[in-house]
Amino acid sequence: GFGDGKPHFVLVPLMAQGHMIPMVDLGLLLADRGVSVSLITTPFNASRIRATIGQAREAGLPIRFVELPFPCAEVGLPEGLENIDAATNMEPMAAFFRATSLLQRPLEQYLREQSPYPSCIISDLCHPWTREVARNLQVPRLTFFSICCFTLLCLHNIWHYKVYDDMPDEHEPFAVPGLAERIEVTKAQAPGFFDMPGWEKMAEEVREAEFAADGIVVNSFRDLEPIYIEGYQKAMQKKVWTVGPFSLRNKSVAAMAARGSRASVDTGQCLSWLDSKKPMSVVYVSFGSLTRMNPSQLMEIGLGLEASNHPFVLVIKKSETSEKVEEWLSAGFEERIGSRALVIRGWAPQVMILSHPSVGGFTTHCGWNSTLESIAAGVPMITWPHFADQFLNERMVVDVLRIGVSLGVKQPTYWGTEAAHSAVSRDDVERAVRSLMDEGEEGRERRLRAKELGEKAREAMEEGGSSHANMTHLIEHYTRHAMESMESNGA
Ligand code: UDP
Repeated sequence: GFGDGKPHFVLVPLMAQGHMIPMVDLGLLLADRGVSVSLITTPFNASRIRATIGQAREAGLPIRFVELPFPCAEVGLPEGLENIDAATNMEPMAAFFRATSLLQRPLEQYLREQSPYPSCIISDLCHPWTREVARNLQVPRLTFFSICCFTLLCLHNIWHYKVYDDMPDEHEPFAVPGLAERIEVTKAQAPGFFDMPGWEKMAEEVREAEFAADGIVVNSFRDLEPIYIEGYQKAMQKKVWTVGPFSLRNKSVAAMAARGSRASVDTGQCLSWLDSKKPMSVVYVSFGSLTRMNPSQLMEIGLGLEASNHPFVLVIKKSETSEKVEEWLSAGFEERIGSRALVIRGWAPQVMILSHPSVGGFTTHCGWNSTLESIAAGVPMITWPHFADQFLNERMVVDVLRIGVSLGVKQPTYWGTEAAHSAVSRDDVERAVRSLMDEGEEGRERRLRAKELGEKAREAMEEGGSSHANMTHLIEHYTRHAMESMESNGA
């Protein structure tokens, strides 16, 4: 059970699917090792992961999901905006980021009364206010952000070498300074995450909180990016703990079907559809939890996949469905593709699909979770970044790891804006799928590299592997620290 002289780690995720999901995995990984975990959430976000919470309880894991009320209305946010995916554009999103600091006082109050007292806080990089909480409670604070060391180091170097101070054209490609490899991006692609009102100030706070942290937890593994892990650690002058890929914790179908949200398909049906396909023949197409494709872009994707002649799974989010989309799907498309394709409307059991042997490719927006889930499953990618860290992640996949085919998108696209949405044509999609699934040498080598990385990922998480060992050291380090500070406080 919870407590009983065990170390107590407090996890504070940002309320966004791409941040919550890996933090929940991290919490479960820690609880598996006997650490008592308090994962801070809100009523709405907890309701999405009821099944996961139930599974953890049934397994008797020492993890608590603490629901602090999030007063949306009080700060002028629409009702229900307890998760970033409820934000329809950049204004409410910026307001949401600011509003998260309302959790500071209730969190501090809650933690003060807890026994066992917290050993450390692991908070999302986007919660700079947790710095105060940790300081007031006198506990160490680690940051976590589901992003790789390659991208963290690129962002750090762009800032450190003041690259943007003298950058007249935001679409002019430049080489990221201070790296061993030549990596080109533009300022528009890598503005330092978001291009939203008030971001500059927020980015400054985030950076300060990153520097002030006692350590940094990263969802990555040693063999994936050794020089970048070392480079980032050197730049930050503090311990960087790579303890991933977190997604590999989800082994059972039940765990995979409940990850992040309840799956919108029957997992049994989904698995038997996958079983009916040839090994490595299926392309899985999904763009994470936040991007929003407009109807005409969705149709181009669908028609390109149809023309590729490969079986595919296409995920269409609730926020992307409309009368127009439904009409197009039912007026011939679904009939033509028949059992060759599976269209999932809503939330897909992504890790379950990616880890099925029939899946041979993933068309992704390069969110780091999706990217690493693909790597962990040994699946090569077609890359279509939209915003935030995604363009840099694309460079990691295509240039550094060489396990991806780029769709060549250059312009960022933010959801809720009218920006260049139909950036990709059906021909582009067809070409990319054919190139990724190609039987020739290039395709074969790409597939081989992806498979090898998948094996290394699994090894890292097994007993004796690098991530497993880092996790042991992380737990020991902060358990010892907590005991020492208790002793010095005369307790
Ligand atoms: N995801 C999922 N089903 C979906 C869409 C997304 O399970 O239908 C999960 C996916 O496996 C990943 C997360 O949601 O863990 C998305 O995170 P990512 O960093 O890839 O992208 P973001 O949503 O933050 O843009």
